[in-house]
Amino acid sequence: MTAPLQERWHSSLMNNYGTPPIALVRGEGALVYDADGKEYLDLLGGIAVNALGHAHPEIIEAVTAQLSTLGHVSNLYIAPPVVELAERLLAAFGHEGRVFVCNSGTEANEAAFKLARRTGRPQIIAAEGGFHGRTMGALAMTGQPAKRAPFEPMPAGVDFVPYGDVAALEALVSERTAAVILEPIQGENGVVVPPEGYLAAAREITSRHGALLILDEVQTGIARTGAYFAHQRVGIVPDVMTLAKGLGGGMPIGAVIATGPAADLFEPGQHGTTFGGNPACAAAAVAVLKHIDANGLCERVDSLGKSLAADVEALGHPLVAHVRGDGLLLGIVLTEPLSAQVDAAAKRAGYLLNAPAPNVLRLAPPLILSDEQADAFVADLPGILDAAQKAGTR
Ligand code: PMP
Repeated sequence: MTAPLQERWHSSLMNNYGTPPIALVRGEGALVYDADGKEYLDLLGGIAVNALGHAHPEIIEAVTAQLSTLGHVSNLYIAPPVVELAERLLAAFGHEGRVFVCNSGTEANEAAFKLARRTGRPQIIAAEGGFHGRTMGALAMTGQPAKRAPFEPMPAGVDFVPYGDVAALEALVSERTAAVILEPIQGENGVVVPPEGYLAAAREITSRHGALLILDEVQTGIARTGAYFAHQRVGIVPDVMTLAKGLGGGMPIGAVIATGPAADLFEPGQHGTTFGGNPACAAAAVAVLKHIDANGLCERVDSLGKSLAADVEALGHPLVAHVRGDGLLLGIVLTEPLSAQVDAAAKRAGYLLNAPAPNVLRLAPPLILSDEQADAFVADLPGILDAAQKAGTR
């Protein structure tokens, strides 16, 4: 008999993640199924990736049609999907600019780091608690010291400020500053929302000193927060924005959008990637953007996110302090550090979510989540929270 998938995983793949608890073999929409046929509602969406859920016909069609027409072309040539993608992204952004297409969020931030270096200024400012990826440049800007420590020394020149603190930014940004990089909402840090006015202040301070404002919208972008991009919720325009996750609807793709002088910082030959803009992945991303437009998904995410957050708070459960976030990127803040227990109880009850902090649960479901699916989770949540509290006091 073949050993269970988890066992084979453990002996064949590097142990950089720890053992995954569930082997998933099939998915449809917001539902996924494990090797035993158990059904789960996927409230994490592959961590904000599966914008249209699993096996969406429009993505299958787009990728299949592209692969049947033209496969990989490398960056020595161009193919229609990557150009259409760039044009659609700029239209959604609403400003003139240029796009660099890559394969992941980390890689998008790595490119943004290099763009910042091209200004000739030595300093990059990032936020404590922020997450930008695992390669050395992206890691150097990641404000979680435990993630950086095993890999010191980091690339030089990155300084950190407390997230959400305008005075700290004001004190540090100067004519030496190439860029300030921020997440509009810190996803990995536990769906941390900055105080009102913070991003607008960051925009004003960076502009005043001629520094770039880079927004990492890898987690918040592509309709996740109820607008195409989270910065549109607060009415500012970054110089540089990084994207990935939901962009490909499950296919690996990332992008950097730059506007103004930042759009021309790379000279030919200075940056590149073999797979970036790969026609099949670009076609998937175009299908995602078309679907968002054709179905009014931004408005839908805005209203469903608001009602889901309100319904969870209205349960009045003693373990729930409040719900934070925007659109369908929500953090359920607990009154006790029991998020691992809630995560486990939710899995037993057939819901996938995760615990980015000891007292925070994260929801980042497919954007096509139905009202009925959201209601089912809210109805089952009190039982899940009770079970977690019992496990926590044992
Ligand atoms: N930036 C942010 C804000 C993220 O949330 C993540 C992934 N969690 C990344 C960058 C890295 O993206 P990727 O895993 O696609 O490299």
